[in-house]
Amino acid sequence: VRKIYDISMPIQIGMPVWKNKPEKQPALEITRDFSTHNVRETRLHLDAHTGTHIDAPLHMIEGGRSIDTIAMEQLIRPCRVIDLTHVSNSIGTKELEAAQPEPGDFLLLKTRNSFCDGYTPDFVFLNEDGAGFLAQAGVSGVGIDALGIERDQPGHPTHKKLFAAGIVIIEGLRLKDIEPGSYLLVAAPLKLVGIDAAPARVLLLSLKSTVTASQS
Ligand SMILES: [Zn+2]
Repeated sequence: VRKIYDISMPIQIGMPVWKNKPEKQPALEITRDFSTHNVRETRLHLDAHTGTHIDAPLHMIEGGRSIDTIAMEQLIRPCRVIDLTHVSNSIGTKELEAAQPEPGDFLLLKTRNSFCDGYTPDFVFLNEDGAGFLAQAGVSGVGIDALGIERDQPGHPTHKKLFAAGIVIIEGLRLKDIEPGSYLLVAAPLKLVGIDAAPARVLLLSLKSTVTASQS
């Protein structure tokens, strides 16, 4: 391993949350501290979609698979960071074609979102057309540097197309400091059972061989 990049969002009070809704803010409740005990303990009140997280099909599909069913083999694997920082609104086939996705690829979409620290309603997203293109290409996963992979599309077709194709979705990545290219992805969601998402620590490992060899 040449270098480890942490591309996760810090979880803290005042962090960016979906649509800036106050009820989506994490709460860190100190249940004991040194004023009355000889320990400090904190209780977390977190939305499962807080910060950097992985969505499970159950998020959008009634009766769909839950987060604990995603195998670690799907989350620890080679990936490619694609430069889409020139895109102003949404990512479709036209924007993705240059990357020439292949079956099994895991793509991380680096957009202008990574250069904005708060939640912005007009964040760059993967549109339905782009999701269809990735499904057709047979990619195994896609990650984006926004708290959601889509916005303003009635019925959430991007999520549904990706889930239908078995594509893993990572949201809330921070890619400002990441050069486009090949890495080893390490995405480790909390082992929460039966629910629709889980916060994750997501790392990129740059490996001497992959970075030079697989960059076309
Ligand atoms: Zn989500």
